[in-house]
Amino acid sequence: MLLALIPLGLGLATAGGALVARRALSPVGAMSRTARRITAADLTERIPARGAGDELDHLAETLNAMLVRLEAAFVQVRRFAADAAHELRTPLTALRGELEVGLRADRSPEEYRRVLQSVLESVERLVRLAEDLLALSRASSGGLVRSGPVDLEALVLGALDAGARLAQGRGVTVRLGAVEPAGVTGDAVALERALLNLVDNAVRYTPSGGKVELSAGPADGWAEISVQDSGPGIAPADVERVFDPFVRLEAARAGETEGTGLGLAIARSIVTAHAGTLTVESTPGAGSRFTIRLPRS
Ligand code: ADP
Repeated sequence: MLLALIPLGLGLATAGGALVARRALSPVGAMSRTARRITAADLTERIPARGAGDELDHLAETLNAMLVRLEAAFVQVRRFAADAAHELRTPLTALRGELEVGLRADRSPEEYRRVLQSVLESVERLVRLAEDLLALSRASSGGLVRSGPVDLEALVLGALDAGARLAQGRGVTVRLGAVEPAGVTGDAVALERALLNLVDNAVRYTPSGGKVELSAGPADGWAEISVQDSGPGIAPADVERVFDPFVRLEAARAGETEGTGLGLAIARSIVTAHAGTLTVESTPGAGSRFTIRLPRS
């Protein structure tokens, strides 16, 4: 009887085990089929959860959360590419128009000079745009290689000098507020660029007769640098938007054409890469205060 029952028992146990394993793993199979269907072109599909509250449901939830993040990142990349193409097209179209005008008929040397001058302006805008795009891509991909002690005081004094030079002839006063030492570690060149972008904006957007003040020092366990201006301020609805690439508010677009709309995005990427924050407090009509906070070393 044993000789007959043992093989029978083994056979039944094997068949039962295989059945249970197949049933238990079939949701995994369904999941991987769904995951294979999801491609970069269509990230909208989600892996269905069975509602059993077990490990497989948790896995489905985790994968779905990852898909949500991936989808958002893809949308952002697509929007960025479209915006960048649009921004490149504007000076390129201007360039073509200027060259066509120059070639249409024989021109006097004066006219050629004028055409060349505006060609140069369009090329300069393109170069600025390319440089800003490169800086943004470097900062947001963590391409900060040089890391060492940063002299906060020297950083602020350098920005003060640059701001004063920029303010010349604009009737804007750039001055130094309180500066106290606070140790910071990071890429001094990149941080200088972030701060210069803030100072540059403060000077450019503040009308004649206004003031820009730089200060730095320890605050709540951070090293803080702030740039305060008495310019037009930013409406509450736009306060977060200004950090997005290519966003230029109506007033800035109307006033001048210099900016690329990438300055604040670059500054925020650089500060974020240093595990810090870049924020703005602003009162429309009274001015803005941009604050960089960096971890103290
Ligand atoms: P831009 O090249 O246009 O200066 P930024 O990214 O540096 O690009 O700034 C985005 C927009 O934020 C600007 O176009 C302007 O509308 C607004 N902005 C930036 N700094 C200030 C400021 N200090 N005061 C008022 N508006 C500002």
